[in-house]
Amino acid sequence: MSALPQTGYRPHMAQYTLPDLSYDPASLEPHLSAAIVSLHHDKHHATYVKGANTALEQLETARSKEDWGSLVGLEKALAFNLGGHVLHSIYWTNLSPNGGGEPDGALRAAIDDTFDGFASFRDLFTQSALAVQGSGWGILSWEPIGGRLLVQQLGTHQDNHVIGAVPLLAIDVWEHAYYLQYQNVRADYMKAIWNVVNWADVSKRFDAAQA
Ligand code: FE
Repeated sequence: MSALPQTGYRPHMAQYTLPDLSYDPASLEPHLSAAIVSLHHDKHHATYVKGANTALEQLETARSKEDWGSLVGLEKALAFNLGGHVLHSIYWTNLSPNGGGEPDGALRAAIDDTFDGFASFRDLFTQSALAVQGSGWGILSWEPIGGRLLVQQLGTHQDNHVIGAVPLLAIDVWEHAYYLQYQNVRADYMKAIWNVVNWADVSKRFDAAQA
């Protein structure tokens, strides 16, 4: 898959498809086990892709039958499943066997300026992700109206999302992202994940979000 989200209107309703991983599932070890990456991608992410397509089909049916009573449930299913697909697509490209270290360039300058340095940003992001109640995500995003970076905490795939903010770094903290390897210790997963963050991809998203 491409490193950045596809943009531009496509005239026929797209069927969403599961993007391939650009690396071997075992290549993120020892930080993330092959079993976690395979199950997470092949089963969990695939389920959201299917759910997004189903929700869109059902919305089409509701529109054609004027079945407006089903809209509240369908819109919720769409936000959850399509949100899940988008977030996981970002997550996989935000990770790399050659990841880790610290960002540089314009992204680094913005992080330093906004959060008083990379270590301070990483602490905030980590603590925000650890504090997610139940299932959710830690996000670094670009908010275009204020022209600033935000650390966001998402519940499931959509709660707390600031409309218009563009995710640059998305870390899944649902239990399925770490439980097989780290059991209940989300903190150990969050410590490990920094070793595989693909800062080149995050930087590309930062540049594209501002373009
Ligand atoms: Fe997930």
